[in-house]
Amino acid sequence: MNPRTDTALPALTAAFLGDDGTTDWVRGVPRRLRTLLDAMPRSARTAVHGAALAVDAYALARTGRRLTALAPGERERLLARLAAHRTALPVLDALKVPVLLAAGTERMLHREAPAARPAADDPPLDCTPSAAWPNRSTADAVVVGSGAGGAMAARTLARAGLRVVVVEEGEHHTTASFAGRTPLDRFTGLYRDAGATIAYGAPPLVVPTGRAVGGTTVVNSGTCYRTPDHVLTRWRTIHGFAAADGLTTHLDEAERTLRVARQPLDVLGENGRLALSGARRLGWAAGPLRRNAPGCQGSCQCVVGCPTGAKQSVQLSVLPDACAAGARIVTAARVRRLLVDRDRPGGPRASGVLVSRPDGSELEILSPLVVVAAGALGTPQLLRRSGLGGHPGLGRNLSVHPAISVAGRFGTPVGGGQAVLQSVAVEELHADGILIEATAAPPGMSSFVLPGVGRALRDALEDTEHLATLGAMVADRPSGRVLGRHGTLLRYALAPRDAGRLLRAQRAMGRLLFAAGAEEVLTGVPHAPRAGDMAQLEALLADVAVRHLHVSAFHPTGTAAAGADEDRAPADPEGRLRGAHGVLIADGSVLPSCPEVNPQLSIMAAALAVTDRWLART
Ligand SMILES: Cc1cc2nc3c(=O)[nH]c(=O)nc-3n(C[C@H](O)[C@H](O)[C@H](O)COP(=O)(O)OP(=O)(O)OC[C@H]3O[C@@H](n4cnc5c(N)ncnc54)[C@H](O)[C@@H]3O)c2cc1C
Repeated sequence: MNPRTDTALPALTAAFLGDDGTTDWVRGVPRRLRTLLDAMPRSARTAVHGAALAVDAYALARTGRRLTALAPGERERLLARLAAHRTALPVLDALKVPVLLAAGTERMLHREAPAARPAADDPPLDCTPSAAWPNRSTADAVVVGSGAGGAMAARTLARAGLRVVVVEEGEHHTTASFAGRTPLDRFTGLYRDAGATIAYGAPPLVVPTGRAVGGTTVVNSGTCYRTPDHVLTRWRTIHGFAAADGLTTHLDEAERTLRVARQPLDVLGENGRLALSGARRLGWAAGPLRRNAPGCQGSCQCVVGCPTGAKQSVQLSVLPDACAAGARIVTAARVRRLLVDRDRPGGPRASGVLVSRPDGSELEILSPLVVVAAGALGTPQLLRRSGLGGHPGLGRNLSVHPAISVAGRFGTPVGGGQAVLQSVAVEELHADGILIEATAAPPGMSSFVLPGVGRALRDALEDTEHLATLGAMVADRPSGRVLGRHGTLLRYALAPRDAGRLLRAQRAMGRLLFAAGAEEVLTGVPHAPRAGDMAQLEALLADVAVRHLHVSAFHPTGTAAAGADEDRAPADPEGRLRGAHGVLIADGSVLPSCPEVNPQLSIMAAALAVTDRWLART
């Protein structure tokens, strides 16, 4: 690290949190922030350090001294002055995100040791680390990626009697391994790029995805929506996704496997109860979500691995079935490329995969069938690395469900206790492409960014128990693209229609929180952070454009879409990659368009459909 950043960043962190030596937990934040940044990709680290150096240069220009030479009060005043410049605010706000992650953890640790809950034993999996897997082996089918789609594909093929090997880049994390580790430690271990995957555009979006046995299902919120009928009809009739024909039956099957049921009210938590009461007062359609978490104890940690094993991520539900049917899983195994036999009559044919171990050595698994399920961000790059990226539609058509959060401050504590992380859906605006879900989060991990700097930010952190948060996602026009072959390189140009939906969602969430009794609504907009009533909120938002919002995105789909149009769809109507034999696409990338709901069931059903149809033809 640059020696100047080494000092500028801790000094800036102290200024952000108004560290005047009176609050113990603040002291540990710079060290925790450094650990977090070390786990992030270099681009994110460089951006944070660059921003810290810019603030340091501002201090020098303004006072003749660097941040470290300023007294705590001077640093805080300097930061407040900087924050008064509307142009500097977005940079400060971007810096705040990792600071809040680190601060939330330190504060939590200071208040309570992470509860070590007795974890149930996970159902058995047949996992072998790549270090112990032979350099050369054979299979009837290799599945790349063990997430929602890959797990379903592996189970279907194994049950049909094929020798299946699942190759997964991430590690196997058991439920027991989550106990006693802070949410932040789990976060950096379970997410690709330590959760800092960015889609570049205006605004840039954070698009977190999981990397573990179980893929993103290990870190998802457990919400289970069936693909809406009008979406299925569109997929069938407009896109020609033939596999959509049987999807209703496959959705039933996915729901049974994941033990999906409506979330009971008893562990919902205040966040969800307030969303219900606000909706009731407004006469809006709302209800507890259907989830795959029977016996959920409201630990509110789904997004960093369920510590009780209640959430039926695929490593606890689908993959054990697959292994019982003979499938084997190789972990810490990154597929570098598919092996392709190019001299076959009839065109190129997959013949297996070449896999990297963490120590740089390689192994080969030979197989006549390769199911690519590396996720909508990973699949296009893998196909390009394999010389199979020729289709012009590959990597395009990326949908992501752009999402924002709003918080309401209540007179009595509403957070901090037992709560379901994502508990209630407000479907009033769903027909217009806006789905509101009451979403709490582990400390510091909400995509909602607290307002203020210095003492004001620290006070806001101390007061998070009074905040209820809502999230809204919009069904987007596919507006993104996965570029390149390595690393995660994304572009996303938010469509004007979807920008309008996000702004409308912002107002709707404010209205809902006020209806539920919020004393103030925190918008998450740096230059217009709080409103005391609906009229004030309307006035504030009149000056807000979508570029002022913190937009996240959670559900990438569509980058190797199936469809009838040979020029647009990289996969044929049954999910077979065009231009090569023996390659199926069975993850979020195969969906023709945005599913308009949280997508795990749609992806599992699509993977089932694609592999079922392949089996029926062989
Ligand atoms: C915070 C969060 C909350 C969410 N909440 C919900 C929710 O409540 N409900 C819902 O329906 N959806 C939710 N989702 C989304 C949902 O979990 C995903 O859409 C779904 O898991 C995607 O399935 P997939 O098979 O396409 O990819 P993934 O599940 O992401 O699996 C892909 C796997 O492939 C592996 N891989 C990638 N490249 C390689 C390679 N080269 N070699 C080997 N392995 C590789 C990855 O490590 C990963 O494990 C959420 C997502 C996030 C991030």
